Amino acid sequence: MKIKHAILPGRDPTSRWDVEFECNTITRIQPAAAPADCSRNPSPSPLLLPPLCHPHIHLDKAYLLTCNHHHHPHHHPSSEADKHPDYSDLTPQDGSFAEALRFTSLAKQRYTDEDLYLRGAQLLATSLSQGVTACRAFVETDHVTRQSCLHAAIRLKECFRGKMRLQICAFAQDPLFSTEHGTENMRVLQHALRDFGEHVEVLGTTPYVENSTEAALRNIEWAIETALAYSLHLDFHLDYNLDGSREAMVWDVLRLLREKGWTERAKPGKTVVLGHCTRLTLFSDGEMARLAGEIKDSSLPVHFVGLPTSDLFMMGRPAGAAGESTSADRPRGTLQVVDMIKKHGINACLCVNNVGNAFTPWGTGDPLALASLGVGLYQAGTDEDANLLFECVSSRARRAMGLGPASALEAGLPSQEPRPDQDQEDTTELQEGRRGELLLIKNKEYVACPGHLGVKIPARQQVCVRDVVWEPPEVNLRQILRCG
Ligand SMILES: [Zn+2]
Repeated sequence: MKIKHAILPGRDPTSRWDVEFECNTITRIQPAAAPADCSRNPSPSPLLLPPLCHPHIHLDKAYLLTCNHHHHPHHHPSSEADKHPDYSDLTPQDGSFAEALRFTSLAKQRYTDEDLYLRGAQLLATSLSQGVTACRAFVETDHVTRQSCLHAAIRLKECFRGKMRLQICAFAQDPLFSTEHGTENMRVLQHALRDFGEHVEVLGTTPYVENSTEAALRNIEWAIETALAYSLHLDFHLDYNLDGSREAMVWDVLRLLREKGWTERAKPGKTVVLGHCTRLTLFSDGEMARLAGEIKDSSLPVHFVGLPTSDLFMMGRPAGAAGESTSADRPRGTLQVVDMIKKHGINACLCVNNVGNAFTPWGTGDPLALASLGVGLYQAGTDEDANLLFECVSSRARRAMGLGPASALEAGLPSQEPRPDQDQEDTTELQEGRRGELLLIKNKEYVACPGHLGVKIPARQQVCVRDVVWEPPEVNLRQILRCG
């Protein structure tokens, strides 16, 4: 495959390159020959970039707020179980976190196999069209869902093989050490790990849903031990609050990882990811520096993932009754991902978390839209910031998942994936020898404009990373390049 007259990030945006791409490897980059006829305006050049990644996305609760009741001519539900459930009564009312938890657990009771498969496939196909080639899919296993979400995820992984590197996270959204269902939830999760071990690569839990600090600590301790025992990556939903009177649990996670000897006992390349962590926005610079120091000193492969579309919707609501605007004081809280990386050298990335449900009713799930939101959210307006935000939804996101740049085609061959956290460079630049898929951004020749103007208006060209971060290109201008 040869991509002619391409624009490459990090190089002079007026230069054009011919890029040879074989076996998902850039084998040659050469300056492109000047167009033969200079008088003729050459067709617009495409921009080549690394592909996008979802390091934290909930597969089974996507699109609960949209209708799947259309009558597809080729789809005849054969049984009651194949019919698509109605979730329309679960539209957010007060929009609170408690309501989202309640509505989503009600929705869970209605999942059917075909419904889980359809919504999951819609999410993955949409992600592919947006330029995503790898994702960590959170799949709930508990007393309500049993193994149904896991079954759907395994089916989807097979269906998208070679296109999407689907990394399945067996996930306890519900308590394991408290409430009347804790014991049963634990039993179901343990079964999942035992019976579907070959398909599960990550263990995820939610310590904050336990009803005491003691139970939350047991949750963390058990998850660390179990991830080590099954050689899994570990992923916590953690510190999802803005309550300065409560100590952040990130300190306990780091302490327990050290006490359990994660760095010595974990298989090379296994990472620990901490999601949400909105409580950390109340940290002083000193506390953040201490956090960075603890992670560095203990050589823990800890990555933070900011989930701003969910956090913005959930965090910092008025102090009065939910939905009632009794106060103008709405302290938004979402991890300061850019500062964490730039000022403190902490590994961090970004993801959309949820698409189309009570936790995050808005957004398209597009990682580039998320990077774009980051410009305003983190007040990050330099070229360097744009590059960093792009890395947060591409190379840094992959590294959090324990993946190098290598492609979806190599899924299931972890030995071919470079070890993460080993001087691996986060870069949007593309060099000869780079392995992995590419994302091609096409440029339009003219502005598409409804109605007849009598003149054609030349389109603005996207020639560098900041252009696509500041103004994400339409999905139909994006194309994933892979060989085979
Ligand atoms: Zn999540």
